[in-house]
Amino acid sequence: MVIAIDGPAGTGKSAVSRALARKLGARFLDTGAMYRMVTLAVLRAGIDPADAEAVTDCASAARLTVGYSPEASSFHLGGEDVSAEIRGDDVTGAVSAVSAVPAVRELLVDQQRALAEGAGSIVVEGRDIGTAVFPDAPVKIFLTASAETRARRRNDQNIAAGLANDYGAVLADVRRRDHLDSTRAASPLRAASDAIVVDTSDMTEAEVVARLQELVTQRSGALR
Ligand code: C5P
Repeated sequence: MVIAIDGPAGTGKSAVSRALARKLGARFLDTGAMYRMVTLAVLRAGIDPADAEAVTDCASAARLTVGYSPEASSFHLGGEDVSAEIRGDDVTGAVSAVSAVPAVRELLVDQQRALAEGAGSIVVEGRDIGTAVFPDAPVKIFLTASAETRARRRNDQNIAAGLANDYGAVLADVRRRDHLDSTRAASPLRAASDAIVVDTSDMTEAEVVARLQELVTQRSGALR
Protein backbone atom coordinates (compact mmCIF):
# COMPACT_ATOMS: atom_id res chain seq x y z
CA MET A 1 0.00 0.00 0.00
CA VAL A 2 1.33 3.43 -0.96
CA ILE A 3 0.65 6.28 1.48
CA ALA A 4 1.16 9.53 -0.42
CA ILE A 5 2.08 12.61 1.62
CA ASP A 6 2.40 15.93 -0.19
CA GLY A 7 2.68 19.55 0.84
CA PRO A 8 4.97 22.57 0.81
CA ALA A 9 8.22 23.04 2.74
CA GLY A 10 7.99 23.54 6.49
CA THR A 11 4.76 21.65 7.19
CA GLY A 12 6.75 19.07 9.16
CA LYS A 13 6.19 16.68 6.26
CA SER A 14 9.53 14.86 6.45
CA ALA A 15 9.54 14.30 10.21
CA VAL A 16 5.89 13.29 10.24
CA SER A 17 6.22 10.94 7.24
CA ARG A 18 9.23 9.24 8.74
CA ALA A 19 7.52 8.82 12.13
CA LEU A 20 4.40 7.46 10.44
CA ALA A 21 6.45 4.90 8.47
CA ARG A 22 8.14 3.82 11.68
CA LYS A 23 4.79 3.34 13.46
CA LEU A 24 3.35 1.39 10.54
CA GLY A 25 6.47 -0.72 10.01
CA ALA A 26 6.51 0.67 6.46
CA ARG A 27 9.32 1.79 4.18
CA PHE A 28 9.87 5.52 3.67
CA LEU A 29 10.80 7.38 0.48
CA ASP A 30 11.83 11.05 0.54
CA THR A 31 11.46 12.16 -3.10
CA GLY A 32 12.64 15.72 -2.36
CA ALA A 33 16.05 14.24 -1.56
CA MET A 34 16.18 12.78 -5.09
CA TYR A 35 15.61 16.23 -6.67
CA ARG A 36 18.25 17.57 -4.28
CA MET A 37 20.77 14.89 -5.37
CA VAL A 38 20.30 15.75 -9.04
CA THR A 39 20.66 19.44 -8.15
CA LEU A 40 23.93 18.71 -6.36
CA ALA A 41 25.21 16.85 -9.44
CA VAL A 42 24.22 19.83 -11.61
CA LEU A 43 26.00 22.35 -9.36
CA ARG A 44 29.12 20.19 -9.08
CA ALA A 45 29.29 19.93 -12.86
CA GLY A 46 29.14 23.73 -13.11
CA ILE A 47 25.90 23.55 -15.13
CA ASP A 48 23.46 26.48 -15.09
CA PRO A 49 20.25 25.12 -13.41
CA ALA A 50 18.26 27.10 -16.01
CA ASP A 51 19.88 25.16 -18.91
CA ALA A 52 17.21 22.44 -19.22
CA GLU A 53 19.10 20.39 -21.80
CA ALA A 54 22.36 20.24 -19.85
CA VAL A 55 20.43 19.59 -16.62
CA THR A 56 18.62 16.67 -18.28
CA ASP A 57 21.89 15.12 -19.52
CA CYS A 58 23.38 15.47 -16.07
CA ALA A 59 20.30 13.90 -14.43
CA SER A 60 20.40 10.94 -16.86
CA ALA A 61 24.07 10.30 -16.07
CA ALA A 62 23.73 10.69 -12.28
CA ARG A 63 23.78 7.45 -10.31
CA LEU A 64 21.40 7.88 -7.36
CA THR A 65 21.10 5.32 -4.58
CA VAL A 66 18.26 5.93 -2.17
CA GLY A 67 17.78 4.09 1.10
CA TYR A 68 14.26 3.79 2.42
CA SER A 69 14.51 2.74 6.00
CA PRO A 70 12.66 5.27 8.19
CA GLU A 71 15.37 4.74 10.82
CA ALA A 72 18.27 5.96 8.72
CA SER A 73 17.75 7.20 5.20
CA SER A 74 20.91 7.36 3.16
CA PHE A 75 21.51 9.12 -0.11
CA HIS A 76 24.44 8.28 -2.35
CA LEU A 77 25.46 10.04 -5.52
CA GLY A 78 27.82 7.87 -7.58
CA GLY A 79 28.67 5.93 -4.42
CA GLU A 80 29.39 9.01 -2.26
CA ASP A 81 27.21 9.70 0.79
CA VAL A 82 25.71 13.18 0.15
CA SER A 83 23.02 13.08 2.86
CA ALA A 84 24.32 16.25 4.54
CA GLU A 85 25.40 18.19 1.46
CA ILE A 86 21.98 17.98 -0.24
CA ARG A 87 20.48 20.00 2.67
CA GLY A 88 22.86 22.94 2.15
CA ASP A 89 21.87 26.43 0.98
CA ASP A 90 23.36 26.05 -2.52
CA VAL A 91 21.22 23.02 -3.27
CA THR A 92 18.13 24.53 -1.61
CA GLY A 93 18.56 27.67 -3.72
CA ALA A 94 18.74 25.79 -7.04
CA VAL A 95 16.45 22.77 -6.53
CA SER A 96 13.21 24.45 -7.67
CA ALA A 97 14.76 25.29 -11.06
CA VAL A 98 16.07 21.74 -11.54
CA SER A 99 12.80 20.12 -10.47
CA ALA A 100 10.86 22.28 -12.95
CA VAL A 101 12.56 20.51 -15.90
CA PRO A 102 9.98 18.00 -17.25
CA ALA A 103 12.58 15.43 -18.38
CA VAL A 104 14.14 15.41 -14.90
CA ARG A 105 10.71 14.76 -13.39
CA GLU A 106 10.02 11.89 -15.82
CA LEU A 107 13.31 10.28 -14.97
CA LEU A 108 12.86 10.58 -11.21
CA VAL A 109 9.19 9.56 -11.24
CA ASP A 110 10.18 6.32 -13.04
CA GLN A 111 12.79 5.68 -10.34
CA GLN A 112 10.29 6.48 -7.57
CA ARG A 113 7.76 4.00 -8.96
CA ALA A 114 10.45 1.32 -9.21
CA LEU A 115 11.64 2.01 -5.65
CA ALA A 116 8.11 1.68 -4.26
CA GLU A 117 7.57 -1.72 -5.86
CA GLY A 118 7.70 -4.81 -3.71
CA ALA A 119 5.96 -6.14 -0.68
CA GLY A 120 4.60 -4.11 2.21
CA SER A 121 3.58 -0.54 2.72
CA ILE A 122 5.59 2.53 1.85
CA VAL A 123 5.15 6.16 2.89
CA VAL A 124 6.16 8.36 -0.05
CA GLU A 125 6.70 12.03 0.65
CA GLY A 126 6.91 14.86 -1.92
CA ARG A 127 4.99 17.47 -3.88
CA ASP A 128 3.29 15.46 -6.65
CA ILE A 129 2.96 11.98 -5.15
CA GLY A 130 -0.86 11.92 -4.96
CA THR A 131 -1.34 13.84 -8.22
CA ALA A 132 1.29 12.38 -10.57
CA VAL A 133 3.53 9.65 -9.15
CA PHE A 134 0.89 7.43 -7.49
CA PRO A 135 -2.51 8.80 -8.57
CA ASP A 136 -4.12 5.52 -7.41
CA ALA A 137 -2.61 5.56 -3.90
CA PRO A 138 -5.30 4.43 -1.42
CA VAL A 139 -4.25 7.05 1.14
CA LYS A 140 -3.41 10.61 0.07
CA ILE A 141 -2.63 13.30 2.56
CA PHE A 142 -1.86 16.96 1.86
CA LEU A 143 -0.21 18.81 4.74
CA THR A 144 -0.53 22.59 4.92
CA ALA A 145 0.34 25.38 7.37
CA SER A 146 0.57 29.15 6.99
CA ALA A 147 3.79 30.50 5.44
CA GLU A 148 4.57 32.30 8.73
CA THR A 149 4.22 29.10 10.80
CA ARG A 150 6.38 27.18 8.35
CA ALA A 151 9.08 29.87 8.35
CA ARG A 152 9.08 30.00 12.15
CA ARG A 153 9.54 26.22 12.35
CA ARG A 154 12.35 26.25 9.77
CA ASN A 155 14.07 29.16 11.54
CA ASP A 156 13.84 27.33 14.89
CA GLN A 157 15.44 24.27 13.25
CA ASN A 158 18.23 26.48 11.86
CA ILE A 159 18.90 27.98 15.28
CA ALA A 160 18.96 24.50 16.85
CA ALA A 161 21.45 23.43 14.17
CA GLY A 162 23.71 26.37 14.99
CA LEU A 163 22.79 28.37 11.87
CA ALA A 164 21.84 32.07 11.78
CA ASN A 165 18.59 33.31 13.34
CA ASP A 166 17.01 35.10 10.36
CA TYR A 167 13.23 34.71 10.29
CA GLY A 168 12.82 37.33 7.54
CA ALA A 169 15.15 35.54 5.13
CA VAL A 170 13.60 32.15 5.90
CA LEU A 171 10.07 33.51 5.31
CA ALA A 172 11.19 35.01 1.99
CA ASP A 173 12.69 31.65 0.95
CA VAL A 174 9.53 29.74 1.97
CA ARG A 175 7.41 32.13 -0.12
CA ARG A 176 9.83 31.98 -3.07
CA ARG A 177 9.82 28.16 -3.15
CA ASP A 178 6.02 27.99 -2.67
CA HIS A 179 5.59 30.29 -5.64
CA LEU A 180 8.04 28.42 -7.89
CA ASP A 181 6.73 24.96 -6.94
CA SER A 182 3.05 25.85 -7.32
CA THR A 183 3.30 27.83 -10.56
CA ARG A 184 5.60 25.53 -12.58
CA ALA A 185 4.05 23.93 -15.66
CA ALA A 186 5.19 20.36 -14.89
CA SER A 187 3.32 18.74 -11.95
CA PRO A 188 2.81 21.90 -9.87
CA LEU A 189 2.37 21.54 -6.12
CA ARG A 190 -1.33 21.10 -5.37
CA ALA A 191 -3.56 18.78 -3.38
CA ALA A 192 -5.06 15.85 -5.32
CA SER A 193 -8.85 16.14 -5.52
CA ASP A 194 -9.16 13.03 -3.32
CA ALA A 195 -6.46 14.01 -0.80
CA ILE A 196 -7.29 14.65 2.86
CA VAL A 197 -6.00 18.11 3.74
CA VAL A 198 -4.49 18.43 7.23
CA ASP A 199 -3.59 21.94 8.45
CA THR A 200 -0.70 21.48 10.89
CA SER A 201 -0.44 25.17 11.98
CA ASP A 202 -1.83 24.53 15.46
CA MET A 203 -0.79 20.89 15.87
CA THR A 204 2.29 19.33 17.42
CA GLU A 205 4.26 16.78 15.43
CA ALA A 206 2.92 13.97 17.65
CA GLU A 207 -0.67 15.13 17.03
CA VAL A 208 -0.14 15.14 13.27
CA VAL A 209 1.37 11.63 13.33
CA ALA A 210 -1.55 10.34 15.44
CA ARG A 211 -4.05 11.93 13.04
CA LEU A 212 -2.37 10.38 10.00
CA GLN A 213 -2.19 6.98 11.65
CA GLU A 214 -5.93 7.23 12.31
CA LEU A 215 -6.56 8.11 8.64
CA VAL A 216 -4.45 5.17 7.42
CA THR A 217 -6.26 2.76 9.76
CA GLN A 218 -9.68 4.04 8.61
CA ARG A 219 -8.68 3.78 4.99
CA SER A 220 -7.17 0.29 5.20
CA GLY A 221 -10.28 -0.84 7.10
CA ALA A 222 -12.44 0.52 4.27
CA LEU A 223 -10.33 -1.31 1.68
CA ARG A 224 -10.74 -4.71 3.33
O1 C5P B 1 11.00 18.25 0.27
P1 C5P B 1 12.19 19.11 -0.05
O2 C5P B 1 12.12 20.49 0.51
O3 C5P B 1 13.49 18.43 0.26
O4 C5P B 1 12.14 19.26 -1.64
C1 C5P B 1 13.07 20.06 -2.32
C2 C5P B 1 12.50 20.55 -3.63
O5 C5P B 1 12.35 19.44 -4.53
C3 C5P B 1 11.13 21.21 -3.57
O6 C5P B 1 11.20 22.58 -3.27
C4 C5P B 1 10.61 20.98 -4.99
O7 C5P B 1 11.14 21.96 -5.86
C5 C5P B 1 11.24 19.66 -5.38
N1 C5P B 1 10.35 18.50 -5.29
C6 C5P B 1 9.51 18.24 -6.33
N2 C5P B 1 8.73 17.12 -6.33
C7 C5P B 1 8.76 16.27 -5.31
C8 C5P B 1 9.62 16.52 -4.20
C9 C5P B 1 10.38 17.66 -4.21
O8 C5P B 1 9.46 19.02 -7.28
N3 C5P B 1 8.01 15.16 -5.35
